[in-house]
Amino acid sequence: MPVQSKRVAGVYISYPFCAQKCTYCNFASGVFPRETERRYVAALRAEIAAHRWQWRPETVYLGGGTPSNMAAEDLRAVLEAVPGRPWIEATIEAAPGGITREQARHWAACGINRVSLGVQSFVSSEIRLTGRKHTAETVAREVELLRASGIGAINVDLIAGLAGQTEATWRESLDWIERTNPEHVSVYMLEVDVDSRLGAEMLAGGARYGAAETPDDDRVAGFYEMAVERLAELGLKRYEISNFARAGFASRHNLKYWKLEPYVGFGADAHSFDGKMRNCNAEVVEDYLSGTGQVGDLSHLAYADERFFVGLRLTEGVRPDAAEWRRYEVPIRKFVDAGWLETADGVLRLSSLGVLVSNEVLAEFLTT
Ligand code: SF4
Repeated sequence: MPVQSKRVAGVYISYPFCAQKCTYCNFASGVFPRETERRYVAALRAEIAAHRWQWRPETVYLGGGTPSNMAAEDLRAVLEAVPGRPWIEATIEAAPGGITREQARHWAACGINRVSLGVQSFVSSEIRLTGRKHTAETVAREVELLRASGIGAINVDLIAGLAGQTEATWRESLDWIERTNPEHVSVYMLEVDVDSRLGAEMLAGGARYGAAETPDDDRVAGFYEMAVERLAELGLKRYEISNFARAGFASRHNLKYWKLEPYVGFGADAHSFDGKMRNCNAEVVEDYLSGTGQVGDLSHLAYADERFFVGLRLTEGVRPDAAEWRRYEVPIRKFVDAGWLETADGVLRLSSLGVLVSNEVLAEFLTT
């Protein structure tokens, strides 16, 4: 049975504008003329204003793109249109390197209580190859500044597998996690996409963006395992494949995606899920602005498939019912024998080894 919820509990707001296009990025985001940004904010406000709120949102997530670059007035106006303040959790994704005290205070005044910093690396040579401009020291200063402004939860994003990364530089980034002491860390294992500038360069056999020094999959897996161990020592426990948090600081908003709870998305490429049906706004900014490209019901997955596909990402795993144990008997047995899945007390979860090959394991539950 699909989840029936009486709440549209999560709100996602997309802001796909960036100061520069990172070399590894394949998102539908980028650098646009100022005029497009202005029209986008107007369209976003209109979309939120036209929404028929039936339930009180409890989390808000401003993602992108780089929503931290939103003009103060625009951010205030967009968030004022969302009911439910004070939200249990309201996150803004931010590019480190240019956050001011004024900005941090403004975010807090707008109801934001969590900032997710797209740090990716604390090592200057790696940061340069991504096209970003911050330094480890500026990140540390900005974390302090955010805390002084009353922002109680900080997430730091890291990427395992950046061009030029070595065990020593990865350790250096993890050392900075210890120094800056965030409540939450996300570690993504880089899968280079051919649509990114880095991917195109690698395909062409070139060396720009560090394409010739990109670690192979085994080394990336090794970096990830180093992170799991080090973050656990720092009290940051893995609760999802890529996400680590101190007790009480797991992302309430993102957990909704993995637990199939409802959310509504606004802006280009924003997805919505009401417990049964999925919708997606137009991916391309100009299509969103012209009102074309809306994708209707995306519920192509059976609920049981999806419950396994997203639920197994969580460290707590899933608790299959009797019919599901029977239905998935073949892949479960295969992966338990391979040491990629574990079962205990009626719960099924990825093993430490299985986490490293999660794409392979999860995909099997979609095709069974
Ligand atoms: S990685 Fe983030 S900041 Fe960089 S271009 Fe992509 S969306 Fe923008």
